[in-house]
Amino acid sequence: MKKIALIGSTGSIGRQALAVAARYPARFRVVAMAANKNERLFAEQIAAYRPAFAALRAEGQPVAVPRGVRFARGEAAFEEACAFAEADVVLVAVSGFAGLKATLAAIEAGKDVALANKESLVVGGDLVLARARAKGVNILPVDSEHSAIWQCLHFDRAAPYARIILTASGGALRDLPLGRLSSVTAAEALAHPNWKMGAKITLDCATMLNKGFEVIEAMHLYGAALSQIEVLIHRESIVHSMVEFADGAVLAQMSVPSMELPIQLALTWPERLDCALPRVDFAKPGALHFSSVDEARYPCFRLALAAAERGGGYPCALNAAGEVAAEAFLNGRIRYTDIAPLIEEALSAPVPAAHGYAELEALDAAARARARGLLPQ
Ligand code: NDP
Ligand code: MG
Repeated sequence: MKKIALIGSTGSIGRQALAVAARYPARFRVVAMAANKNERLFAEQIAAYRPAFAALRAEGQPVAVPRGVRFARGEAAFEEACAFAEADVVLVAVSGFAGLKATLAAIEAGKDVALANKESLVVGGDLVLARARAKGVNILPVDSEHSAIWQCLHFDRAAPYARIILTASGGALRDLPLGRLSSVTAAEALAHPNWKMGAKITLDCATMLNKGFEVIEAMHLYGAALSQIEVLIHRESIVHSMVEFADGAVLAQMSVPSMELPIQLALTWPERLDCALPRVDFAKPGALHFSSVDEARYPCFRLALAAAERGGGYPCALNAAGEVAAEAFLNGRIRYTDIAPLIEEALSAPVPAAHGYAELEALDAAARARARGLLPQ
């Protein structure tokens, strides 16, 4: 029986993780659950899954829970869920910078971390990996590309390889004429062709800021140099990523697009269980296409690679500016084509390196303030 603390249960990954847990009730038990403020869905989830402990991070009224469930709100309660004593593994499915605290709390408690929150590695990858090494815990990739790489390396993140080839769908606006990008609506940018995900990551797929984040994530998880990572557009999202070895052999992991597979595998590896997915139809005409990234369509991707190259505090500032720009676009304050210039301008001032959590938090706050100051008044 694997006991899971699920952090971010009300999100897209969180809901799929609960579906995975429900598929194998004899193998998985959700012992702790946390979310931020979605009280209604959280209460439904508590009633259905009956964790020992349930925490909402945002302060507010208590939520009615069944007997046997302990409920609490606020920062300390959130951290308790992330470090829940009974858990064997903590699945961090929170979105944004907020995930870093959850990941670090789980590591400090000596728990393995199934990591969906890529921002933990983008903003604080050196810290997260150093603490995981010091505590002897596993970081188990959930992001589909990084799960694919892990599978190609036979679940050994330290196995040697020559090159990593990350695939990208190209997002919701991949076929829109470039001249139309300045007038796209939030709804258009959020209409992803292959995946149903939270709003922030869906927008980041359209701009490919997400793929830039994933390059940084792969550098941390697999000790890759930037020059060892290639990104290809692959419209069908069947090949989730590939690894090339010294002799030129390339292994790819393929499956129909579904996050349930990487979520489940992070919990069962090296064992594989039925995931109730349709099989890939290789005979379907034109099943697999690959092409290079069009830099004119995806300026945020170039900005992310530049931040990866500069290192230090730049990826953390990149994430902060990206969160501010995304919120402003989704709220109609800026145009889609303002996102990249805003991030570029926000990163044009020198960014200091940050080491511990407190320094990263201060850097994140300063970078957000700078990006907010660039928004139209
Ligand atoms: P969603 O926006 O759907 O869900 C976010 C979750 O995080 C919700 O449970 C939300 O709680 C919680 N949350 C948000 N802000 C805070 C906060 N400040 N403190 C605590 N909890 C918070 O996101 P996704 O599920 O799409 O993504 C989650 C993470 O997984 C992201 O880092 C994303 O990049 C990554 N990921 C997602 C994929 C996907 O398919 N969705 C694929 C690969 C990676 P509440 O609902 O209460 O606000
Ligand atoms: Mg991904």
